[in-house]
Amino acid sequence: MALEKTLAIIKPDALEKGIIGELCKRVEDAGLKIVGMKMMQLTPKKAEGFYAVHQGKPFFAALVKYMSSGPCVVMCLEGENAIKRWRDTMGATDPEKAAEGTIRKDFGTNIERNVTHGSDAADTARSEIGYFFESGDLMHYEWI
Ligand code: ATP
Ligand code: MG
Repeated sequence: MALEKTLAIIKPDALEKGIIGELCKRVEDAGLKIVGMKMMQLTPKKAEGFYAVHQGKPFFAALVKYMSSGPCVVMCLEGENAIKRWRDTMGATDPEKAAEGTIRKDFGTNIERNVTHGSDAADTARSEIGYFFESGDLMHYEWI
């Protein structure tokens, strides 16, 4: 087990649905702590940079439009195995394929409008956290 940080985004469709509170509760129920949090509306340029790995894919332009369509909440989460733990809590990319009880199963609309983002590995978590937060922005908890 390792204490990790990961980047989570509550995407614009979740804010349209009014489920910020529900999703923060899912974070806490998963045993993760929110150590950084801000609301913002991504510019198309910021969304493009964030999802640069998907540049050239058929869904890229629509993804950038969706992610910059309204405000989102960007969070840094911390906990034991936070990266996998948050991905498991979100469920599969396509809500139709997501397991019962996961966020995307419960609230996702389709493979694009799937409510949340989570970093997928240690290196992407590090760079994605740095894309939105200065290290001084993050809180430090006492872990027992
Ligand atoms: P995220 O990176 O947002 O946590 P993910 O890692 O589960 O999601 P990725 O393959 O990285 O999935 O895709 C990034 C995002 O692009 C997805 O969350 C979704 O919003 C969108 N997306 C992925 N695949 C498709 C697709 N086939 N059609 C439309 N949109 C897609
Ligand atoms: Mg991804």
